[in-house]
Amino acid sequence: MSYLLDAKTLDLHSALVSDFLAGFSILDQDGQNSGIAGHITARIKDSEQVLGHQYGLAFDEVDEQAVRLTDFDLEEAAQGQVSPSLAFHIALYRARPDIGAIVHTHPDQVIAFSAANGQFIPVFQSALMLHDQVVHYTDYDGIVESEALGEKFARHLGDRQILLLKNHGLISVGRSVRHAVCAAVIFHQNCHIQLEAMKAGSVQGFSDMADDPDILLQASAFLNRDRIIDMRWDQLVRRALA
Ligand SMILES: [Zn+2]
Repeated sequence: MSYLLDAKTLDLHSALVSDFLAGFSILDQDGQNSGIAGHITARIKDSEQVLGHQYGLAFDEVDEQAVRLTDFDLEEAAQGQVSPSLAFHIALYRARPDIGAIVHTHPDQVIAFSAANGQFIPVFQSALMLHDQVVHYTDYDGIVESEALGEKFARHLGDRQILLLKNHGLISVGRSVRHAVCAAVIFHQNCHIQLEAMKAGSVQGFSDMADDPDILLQASAFLNRDRIIDMRWDQLVRRALA
């Protein structure tokens, strides 16, 4: 079942709805709004329900009235309440109990990076958050609307955080809306910088310089801490709402 959030439901999940809506603003401001395409979902903890948004609206048009609550069966996708593409989100939620939120966007620089066969390397310090967390997906599977395709995405993604869909966009998963959105923003920025570096020649990453690979893992663990994600999130909210 999918329905407009009533006052009681909104109240019960007010913190999640607040982050969910801020996520759209952040991604819009970050250049990850691609019109009617793209989505964020957030799992209602310990349930088979997710928050989604009214199908057909762009990220800058999503407000509280546009928030939808839908069961994993996505019955109301057929009624146009939520995008049928949320089917792949559901498959990822089923495969990964640790996932609390999923972002799917189509930023120009991410598409360009993948179309140029770019291989992700963290090229700035904050991007070490995504050290060993990016999986390249090179098949073209048409319109991504089936749960079966979502199961394929889940097999490729494994326990990692970002799936780069060639000539298409990104899927970012996280333990929370904040985590998934921050990863999408960092990944987008890294694609932009790496593309610029590719114009100049071969790209050197931190892994080429470190004698001790553990230091990259330590940096990644630090950058993925809740405290760091919360600080980054607060700054992104301030920037989006300024
Ligand atoms: Zn897409």
